[in-house]
Amino acid sequence: MKIKPSDKEAFSRMGPGILTAQGFLGIDIRSPEEIIAEDEAAFVRLGLDFDQAADELTRLAEEGAKGLGEPIRIGKLLVQSGDARGMLPCPWNDGLFHKTAVSLRPADLPPEACVEGEDMLIYSELSIHLLKVHHFCQGLGSPFRLEPELIAEFLKK
Ligand SMILES: [Zn+2]
Repeated sequence: MKIKPSDKEAFSRMGPGILTAQGFLGIDIRSPEEIIAEDEAAFVRLGLDFDQAADELTRLAEEGAKGLGEPIRIGKLLVQSGDARGMLPCPWNDGLFHKTAVSLRPADLPPEACVEGEDMLIYSELSIHLLKVHHFCQGLGSPFRLEPELIAEFLKK
C-alpha cells in the first residue's frame, strides 16, 4: 500500500491505551501496512472480497442481536451479541462506531473447545468498518482480529 500522511497518523493511534485499552495490533510484530498488505494478499488467495465480507458480517451481527445476548444459530454458526455500550473512534478519524461486540463460532463445536482467533471471530461495528474501508483486519493476537482464513471458513455457503 502507498502510505499517506493520514495512514501514518492512524498507525500512531493503534497501540494499546490510545483509543482502546488493548489497541489494534495485538502481539503482531509487523507494521500496520505489512498487516494490511498481507491480509489483502490472503483475501485474494481465498477468493474473498472486502465489501462482501463486511456486508455479510454486518448481516450476521444484525441477526445475532435478535438473540439479546444469548447465542442463536444462523446456518452452521452460533452468533452471540454482547452488550457493551459506548462508541469508539476509527484510528483514521473518519467516524464513531458502536462498541457492541459479536462473536461467531461453529455451531457444532462445544464452547469450551473454542479458541479465540482459531475457531471464533469477535468483532464490532468498528472492526467491520476497518475491514471494509481500510482493509485492516487488525494484528495477530488482537481479540478483534478478523482472520481471513476464518472469514472464508465461516462465510462460505
Ligand atoms: Zn476509518
